[in-house]
Amino acid sequence: MSDCLFCKIRDGQIPAKLLMRDDRCIAFEDIHPQAPVHVLFVPLQHIPSNNALTPEDRELVGHLVLSASRMAAERGIAESGYRVLLNTGPDAGQQVFHLHLHLIGGRKLKGSMG
Ligand code: AMP
Ligand code: ZN
Repeated sequence: MSDCLFCKIRDGQIPAKLLMRDDRCIAFEDIHPQAPVHVLFVPLQHIPSNNALTPEDRELVGHLVLSASRMAAERGIAESGYRVLLNTGPDAGQQVFHLHLHLIGGRKLKGSMG
């Protein structure tokens, strides 16, 4: 999608601190980290939000979650704990309408359910 921030990062048109790339997703550092570890996992495919997922995306979603758990281990926070977040829509504060998971950890996180 031409006017999408994360599509532009995917295509190298906007710089980001890229941590991994494979045939299905990229991961990069969040520009406004909420914790010592704050990484975004973004599918290469432009999917606007959780609401746009279809059964065909089942494997992709699993891949994103597994990529986050692998990164948590690599960053040394698997045992101390972390959060994986998928904000959807205005009430959740979704800012970028290209599906992404947040991996947040490296400090004690406060209450999570809003
Ligand atoms: P969300 O509220 O779930 O849509 O999260 C969007 C996230 O993207 C926020 O945590 C922002 O800090 C992050 N973000 C916005 N612009 C950039 C950028 N250029 N590079 C990396 N992260 C960004
Ligand atoms: Zn996009």
